[in-house]
Amino acid sequence: MATNTINKGTQCVWSGEEEYLMQGATQVPVVHSVSFGYKDMDEWQQVALGQKPGHIYGRNTNPTVAVFEDKIRQLEGAQAATSASTGMGIISSALFTFLSPGDRVVSVKDTYGGTNKIFQEFLPRFNIKVALCDTTDHEAIEQEIVKGCKVLYLESPTNPTVKVIDIARLAKAGKDAGAIVIVDNTFATPINQNPINLGVDLVLHSATKFLGGHADALGGVICGTKELVKQVYHFREINGATLHPMAAYFLLRGMKTLELRIERQNKSAMKIAQFLESHPEVGQVFYPGLESNPGHDIAKKQMTGFGGMMSFKLREDDFDAVRRFLPKLKFAHAAANLGAVETIVGPPATTSHVECTREERAAMGIPESLIRYSTGIENVEDLIGDLDQALRQ
Ligand code: PLP
Repeated sequence: MATNTINKGTQCVWSGEEEYLMQGATQVPVVHSVSFGYKDMDEWQQVALGQKPGHIYGRNTNPTVAVFEDKIRQLEGAQAATSASTGMGIISSALFTFLSPGDRVVSVKDTYGGTNKIFQEFLPRFNIKVALCDTTDHEAIEQEIVKGCKVLYLESPTNPTVKVIDIARLAKAGKDAGAIVIVDNTFATPINQNPINLGVDLVLHSATKFLGGHADALGGVICGTKELVKQVYHFREINGATLHPMAAYFLLRGMKTLELRIERQNKSAMKIAQFLESHPEVGQVFYPGLESNPGHDIAKKQMTGFGGMMSFKLREDDFDAVRRFLPKLKFAHAAANLGAVETIVGPPATTSHVECTREERAAMGIPESLIRYSTGIENVEDLIGDLDQALRQ
């Protein structure tokens, strides 16, 4: 079935699943086998050498995992995809694949906290230089790129202040300097944004979040050219952070409703952001869909929807206010996750930036009363009512 002409909602349901994998089952089977046997030694050797499709050993590839990878590959419009056990598994695999001692990586201050730890704590140990720029200062980022850049690593919108980066502009600057350009597309999802169409080499996701959508499976995935993805795959097969077939199945099932969920979350988040912006107990709202947001024009240019993620600061900007406010919400898990069918809230101090000190968070411009809000698929009027009653208390 040719899938390059069909729309994303159909891709979510069908892509990667064209072949019946086992005795005509209409759902992708979960193949738990660790190894795959061959009676014909020549065939075994051909599969092992990659000359024939097939599987050898579960740390390398697996049929259920392969379907998951192919579905996201098609949604991102890429040549190839490979996965890992978590988002951090794929991020660290990609960075350690392409960077060697003496290389330089350029990125921004607002990447996900775990990614920031790789930049600040681990890469310097290998004499890899890291330049972390102000996230929305495009000129400063371009100036760092021309100084020498093996990898340009971006995230847009960012976690947790939902800043927007002009991906096409920086991808061009990165490519002109000979860099490999990588974008973390977790917040936007392929429904709202396709970075490969904006000129980047590799796009990655924490599949744990919106792709799976049900907060019941961890996973990571990266998509791009065959040549680059093959290199990341090789590193990942050796470091062993392999996606489990059961997790791949949960992620695949979640992805069937990806477009439905994202469309709803886009609409609800917009209404909630407008409501919060006008609320006297709220200090500031960070959502790229708001006209007041500094990233709004770039977001309009490169995204087809503004996403379900926002954050806001309370009028009383201290952690005590967060302590009082969050337990009053009835329809939101206070938890370290995002992108699920349920609304999820959390302060960066206990979620995305738990790895950072208070001072590091302040240096990144993260207010102490900031609350990250991941809009679920509940009825939006109920969510607004819930926020209102909690804020009033
Ligand atoms: N990228 C972003 C934007 C994230 O928010 C997260 C986790 O919250 C990750 C990467 C890491 O993903 P995982 O928790 O699946 O390792």
